[in-house]
Amino acid sequence: MNDSAASGGPPAGDGEGTRSVRAGLPEPVKYEPTLPGPVFAAHFHLPGEPTGPYTYGRDENPTWTLLEHAIGELEAPGQDGVETLVFASGMAAISSVLFSQLRAGDSVVLPDDGYQALPLARAQLEAFGIEVRTAPTAGDAQLALLDGAKLLWIESPSNPGLDVCDIGRLVEAAHARGVLVAVDNTLATPLGQRPLALGADFSVASGTKQLTGHGDVLLGYVTGRSGEPMAAVRRWRKIVGAIPGPMEAWLAHRSIATLQLRVDRQSAGALAVAEALRGRPEVSGLRYPGLPDDPSHKVASQQMRRYGCVVSFALPTRARAERFLDVLRLVDEATSFGGVRSTAERRGRWGGDAVPEGFIRLSVGAEDADDLVADVLRALAESAR
Ligand SMILES: *Cc1c(COP(=O)(O)O)cnc(C)c1O
Repeated sequence: MNDSAASGGPPAGDGEGTRSVRAGLPEPVKYEPTLPGPVFAAHFHLPGEPTGPYTYGRDENPTWTLLEHAIGELEAPGQDGVETLVFASGMAAISSVLFSQLRAGDSVVLPDDGYQALPLARAQLEAFGIEVRTAPTAGDAQLALLDGAKLLWIESPSNPGLDVCDIGRLVEAAHARGVLVAVDNTLATPLGQRPLALGADFSVASGTKQLTGHGDVLLGYVTGRSGEPMAAVRRWRKIVGAIPGPMEAWLAHRSIATLQLRVDRQSAGALAVAEALRGRPEVSGLRYPGLPDDPSHKVASQQMRRYGCVVSFALPTRARAERFLDVLRLVDEATSFGGVRSTAERRGRWGGDAVPEGFIRLSVGAEDADDLVADVLRALAESAR
């Protein structure tokens, strides 16, 4: 056992499964648990000068520290000078980057096909006098909007359309113009892609999805190189107080031990489901970046190591999609994605995404792929009646 785990460095093993199970574990201490339990503390004993790591519970917490080391080891293995901050939710993490980096008169480039709450963030940014430019994820279309911008926001693969952009190419163009780059890494997870290795300044994600994977925790994080931009993110967390509870942080850390198991199994299941859906006459617009003929595959294969658990497609009508969801037995009708139990929903029921009425986002869980494929094919057949 080396001592770098406690200091945020990589654990001894180099494989991603090994790294996942050991991520963020402290040095062994006789009679202590391997993963210490949640520390419930609003304040800490603090005689004299108020310095040191743990003063007040909105600023720091030892349970967050371990989780932040774990996430950092997965997002940027072996990289020095990288820090991670955990947040109450993915949106808290996203807002912390947007609102700590941008001020009145700045311009930001967002995707126009990204996460559902980005348009809400856009309205707030504009209300604060920030110019917002948008372009689709596909075809690196955001590249044309970079001149004079302060921050580029990338979401690749995009949710729910599963388009992909060339992150390295966009980062190079952005940095040549002095533009910071943040990548929403929620769908890929750090085992799918590592934005910092591709040159991005921030990897930002919702830990609510596959990172924790059990549908029982809301969490967010920002990983970035140490320096003023990350210091501003840390200040923002303190000002807004969008902090995770110790119980959530501990549950998340516990769940990360199985990340590689879950991600590998769910990616294999997603590919099997996508292959089963391909060529079905009632299915259109099938997307999965891991399918060799998917429009995202070429770029995805250059920058991703796993293609995620989300498959999207459309059925001919809203009624057909509703019947399909209704007769699925192994797939819960629910929003969100990334959990060990498969979920699906008709995305159009929320409004906001530019998708057809019959568009379905299916998140493949950890069930046996054969069982899932059989359930999906049976539901397709039954929903035709
Ligand atoms: C869910 C999600 C978010 C928001 O995360 P919360 O934890 O729900 O706040 C942000 N980005 C993407 C891509 C998401 O899927």
